Amino acid sequence: MSRERLYLFDTTLRDGAQTNGVDFTLADKVAIAAMLDNLGIDYVEGGYPGANPIDTELFATKHDLHTTFTAFGMTRRPGRSTSNDPGLAALLEAKADAICFVAKSSAYHVRVALETTEEENLASIRDSVTAAKAAGREVLLDCEHFFDGYKANPKYALACAKAAYDAGARWVVLCDTNGGTLPHEIEAIVGDVVKLIPGDHVGIHAHNDTEQAVANSLAAVRAGARQIQGTLNGLGERCGNANLVSLIPTLKLKPDFAEKFEIGVDDVQLKQLAHVSHALDELLNRAPNRHAPYVGESAFATKAGIHASAIMKEPQTYEHVKPETVGNKRKVLVSDQGGRSNLVAELERIGLNVDKDDARLTRLLETVKEREALGYAYEAADASFELLARRVLGTVPDYFEVERFHVGVEQRYNAVGELITVAEAVVKVKVGNDTMMSVADGNGPVNALDVALRKDLGKYQRYIEGLRLTDYRVRILNAGTGAVTRVLIESEDEKGERWSTVGVSSNIIDASFQALMDSIIFKLVKSAAPA
Ligand SMILES: [Zn+2]
Repeated sequence: MSRERLYLFDTTLRDGAQTNGVDFTLADKVAIAAMLDNLGIDYVEGGYPGANPIDTELFATKHDLHTTFTAFGMTRRPGRSTSNDPGLAALLEAKADAICFVAKSSAYHVRVALETTEEENLASIRDSVTAAKAAGREVLLDCEHFFDGYKANPKYALACAKAAYDAGARWVVLCDTNGGTLPHEIEAIVGDVVKLIPGDHVGIHAHNDTEQAVANSLAAVRAGARQIQGTLNGLGERCGNANLVSLIPTLKLKPDFAEKFEIGVDDVQLKQLAHVSHALDELLNRAPNRHAPYVGESAFATKAGIHASAIMKEPQTYEHVKPETVGNKRKVLVSDQGGRSNLVAELERIGLNVDKDDARLTRLLETVKEREALGYAYEAADASFELLARRVLGTVPDYFEVERFHVGVEQRYNAVGELITVAEAVVKVKVGNDTMMSVADGNGPVNALDVALRKDLGKYQRYIEGLRLTDYRVRILNAGTGAVTRVLIESEDEKGERWSTVGVSSNIIDASFQALMDSIIFKLVKSAAPA
């Protein structure tokens, strides 16, 4: 049986750019577009030319991509002709394969927001689609507030969609702009739309305000829609857009969809998914969501001992899909609940083969339990766990020794009379027979200590050159006798590999120091630096 083609439209660079705290540079946009292209996404919406300088520049040149590179913009303004609308002119000039217009499809919004007549809005849709088609572009029309508009006035919402289709739009995209529509409503309304417009011309654009954007997209497909719009990692305004990173594997791996539909992402591209998701976070300089479905670090992590021993025998006992299909990996957590089988499995995963009856295993298990009771969180600190295991097994060299460190924080007036707070750290390190003293300033004591510690490690310096900290988290715990501070640090190397380390102490600087030391030593172990 031949499968129907389902198209994916990514709007990370346009709707995703509306996310709080996200500011793409031109270079970011070019890099993300290439990434989406390699992933096999059919349409990549680059932005809104004419609305801001970066998007205008992005569309000033043609990009060498397989995907249908799409420019976003408004239909002609009410009361203007298409030839006398600067916004539309900028859009038609953009070097894009397709144009995605946004238009009102709710009678209420036409009246209140657009302040025009229902008929003028329909004329604007027709004229704009016709003009873009005449300019040789594939045309999409986003029907803004479609579902809310449909509930209040189905006739008018449908008239807007139909006007775009009849004028020659390749896709009429139904938008749940406020994100409040539920899956069963989406399924029923899309079912009505496809009676009027063929489903292979209907798209869904869902927002995540009830955390059902993915479910809503799937509901629309079940009802007949054949294009899904979404973003990487569900980026987007408010609660975000439909998350393509969750949708893609569901469409590829769940038989109900996989047997009926074909998407542009093949099995090899699917294996890049975890990487693509993390690479976007990387670009945005934020830590990936550990609990992200399919691609999160914890998506295939098992904690309890009984599950772990089953999972080692038959992975599908506790896994809904194979982690490697999406480029993720199975992880058996070492924790205070964990048993021997967890530990053996985790050691095997990091390349340490230990016999199940090895006495050192008992010692390691006891040490992990003792330290977790003190506040160390090895589940969240894979690198610290690996070091601990290697130390108990006796395979970590003494690369260097920190003889002492000093950190000072001072508040004072600077030369121009402003009150400033400065931190300075001094670290004395012994590497072999050499002793090095490094001094560094930082925007805070931990930063100063980090910089000083990594400033000069003598013969080991070249191994840690590419090391940088990507995340720093502090928690105050009530463990045993009183409050202690737990510091979790995430580091990254020049190859983009990440690892986490942990430190615990009643003193935040000391806790940070432990985590920083683990990170550096882990990097040296990983780089096979000579002892
Ligand atoms: Zn949107």
